Order: sequence, then C-alpha cells, then structure tokens
Amino acid sequence: MSFENINLIEPIRKALKTEGYSIPTPIQKQSIPIILEGKDLLGSAQTGTGKTAAFAIPILQILYENRNAETLRHSVPQTDRKIKALIVTPTRELAIQIGESFAAYGRYSGLHHTVVFGGVSQLRQTNALKKGVDILIATPGRLLDLMNQGYIKLRDLEIFVLDEADRMLDMGFIHDVKKIIAALPQKRQSLFFSATMPPAIITLARTILYNPVKVVIAPVISTAELISQSLYFVDKPNKNALLLHILEDRSIVTALIFTRTKYGADKLTRFMTRNGIRAEAIHGNKSQGARQQALSNFKSRKIRALVASDIAARGLDIDDLSCVINYEIPNIPETYVHRIGRTGRAGATGIAISFCNAEEAAYLQGIQALLPEIIPVVEDHPFPMKEVAATPSPPGRKPSVTAYSGKYDPRLRRRLQTRRR
Ligand code: AMP
Repeated sequence: MSFENINLIEPIRKALKTEGYSIPTPIQKQSIPIILEGKDLLGSAQTGTGKTAAFAIPILQILYENRNAETLRHSVPQTDRKIKALIVTPTRELAIQIGESFAAYGRYSGLHHTVVFGGVSQLRQTNALKKGVDILIATPGRLLDLMNQGYIKLRDLEIFVLDEADRMLDMGFIHDVKKIIAALPQKRQSLFFSATMPPAIITLARTILYNPVKVVIAPVISTAELISQSLYFVDKPNKNALLLHILEDRSIVTALIFTRTKYGADKLTRFMTRNGIRAEAIHGNKSQGARQQALSNFKSRKIRALVASDIAARGLDIDDLSCVINYEIPNIPETYVHRIGRTGRAGATGIAISFCNAEEAAYLQGIQALLPEIIPVVEDHPFPMKEVAATPSPPGRKPSVTAYSGKYDPRLRRRLQTRRR
C-alpha cells in the first residue's frame, strides 16, 4: 500500500514526495483514515513508528479543507488565523521535532504553526503567536503560562493531540494536563498517544476521548531486526580505546553514544575531542540553547559524535543515524530498547554496539531477558576482557560474565525458545 491509496490532498502528496516517503508506516496506514473521518483515536505507539506523521498529515488535511471552505463561505482573509489544532508533548526536544514535521508535511499547505516550550525567553514565542497560527505545538508548563497571560486562546480549537501521555505522567505533568483539558472546547476531535497503557493512562484517556478507535502498534522492540546489534566485553579502563578503534570505521558517519552519567558524558566528550573526533555532549545540565546547538550540529554532521545521557536523548529523532553506542550498559532493560531505537528508524537499518564490563553483566542479563533475540558477541577485538570471573557466581550474588555469554549461553537460548512457544 502506498500513500496514493489514502485520499490525500495534493499539497500533502507533494510534501511527502519531497520528504521521500512513498509507503505509509503501519500506524499511518491505520490512523490517517480514522482521523480524516473525524473520529477520536487512542494510539498505543512509540516514537520511531512514524507516529508524528500519522497525526500531522490528517490534521493538516482537515485544517486545509476547513480553511478553504471557510474562506469561500465568509470571505475570511487568509491572514486571520486562530489556533485550530493543539499538540501537547512532554519535552522541548519532542516539541521541536513535531514542529519540524509540521513544517515538512505542511510546506505547501499555507497553514502556519509555532512551537512553545519553557526554559527560553517567551518573546519570540509570543511574537509568533501574535502573528497568528493555525497549529500550536507546546509543552504543558509554557502552554499554561502563555494561556494565563492571554497570549493563547483555545476557544476555536478543533483538534487536540496529547502525545506521549505516559511520559507526561512520569514527568509529573498530570495536573497541568488536566488544566489544559479543562480549557478546551467540549466539541473537538481528540487524539491520544502513549507508548504504554497502564491503568492511570486509560483513566486519563477516558476523560479526554469520545468513543475512540483504538490503534495498537508493536513497540520499537519489534524493529530491532532492522538494527544490527553487537556486544563487546571489555574492561572499564579499555572502553575509551575500544571506542576509538570502532570509530576508525568511517562507515560510521554519525554515532550517538550513551553514558550513564552527565559527568561521564562530558568526560568522554573531552576524550574524543582530544583524539580528533568532533563530539559534543547533550544532557540535563546543559542549557536548552547548548542542547539544541549540539543536536543541530549533529544533524547537520558538523560533529560526528553526540554523547548523551538517557533523559536528554529519549525521543530524539535523527534521520539516518548510523550507529548507537552504549558506552555503558543501562541498568533499566527498557532503556536499552529506547536507546537502540534511535537508529534503524522507519525502515532504515542501523547498528547498535554495546560495551559491557564485568560489573555491567548483571544489567545485560535483564536486557537479554527482555529481547526476543540474543545480542551477538564480538570476540575478536583488540581489547578483550581480562577481568572475567573464573566461576559462575554463587546463588544470591550478582551473576558474572561467565554466567552470561550472549549467544554462546545454551541455557539462555533454551529459555528464549521456551518463551517464544
Ligand atoms: P516518529 O515515530 O514520528 O518519530 O518518526 C520516526 C522517523 O520516521 C522520522 O524520522 C520520520 O521522518 C520517518 N518517517 C515517518 N513516516 C515515514 C514514512 N512513511 N516513510 C519514511 N520515513 C518515515
């Protein structure tokens, strides 16, 4: 099925061609027709599935058609713009990315959008709002702030999107979200997206949606087959040298490297810079401006490596990211899936490399238990681990590397086979 099979208007078809999209992703295939029919939607999907286009394309189409009809009916000047669609998302990075998607898919639509988020001066945002926008993308805090100051009025709103609802709750935005919902017109179309659907999310969804159609898309984990994963057992002091060795491979054009701590990210960035690899760090201690600058340098390939902490990097969407490197193994198994999901997006292939030292072997077991496939171990490398415990760990102790040896561990393979059945 191609986009040609979905009844899209010419300005959007043209924009999708410019973007090089020809085949809709599963969430797009399912959601676009439902949204175009004006129905509410409850979408269980993560970033990386093409979720943004799944809501941005039909929103642009609906607003474009309504606007044309209104202009004909009432001779409303094209310059008279009221906020007709609102997308609320938890982080600044996501808000900016959604804004970029609306810019791309809506480039021939004549519709205007803007993005508002906290941590920066509001002047540019209020100036953009004063000029008039059709579509507003916002993080909850700044949105409420600007609503309270009278810069944002939502009485003409037609479509509301709550994006990444589970993260919104995790980040403590529930009260803000409730206040925003209370300020929306009753008569509206609502779209609700969440990667997971715990009871608190279902309850929230019920307060927002009317008779929604449910769309469930397999999580990013199922795209892992597009990601070539590999695991290097290496002693901690040799991780830097192994990283340089791996980056000698020029086919790794861009690498997103994860460290566990902000301090570790800065230290590794300094090491790479000293060794001639253009790198910058992105983490919570950096100002919003510095984070955006590093991200834009990475996207434009001015730098080759972006060293990130998990909080800063979740949800980042970087086209054609060649490689994700777990310099340190995350202690939460799901984090591994989120990290490697930054590459191999929307049908592209990617590489995910992980460095594991003796202490991290326990984390690896948790990750391996979550994955449907076993991460292959690269044994032939210049810095093989010396610090391997000779015997399996006694009961009750953290498992050692010998107790976990990737694809060579028959017990693990048996367990995975049993689970699959
Ligand atoms: P998202 O899940 O919205 O973060 O999208 C993940 C990535 O997939 C983004 O880089 C999009 O530009 C890309 N993408 C979305 N839809 C398509 C499509 N139909 N064909 C190719 N790439 C797409």
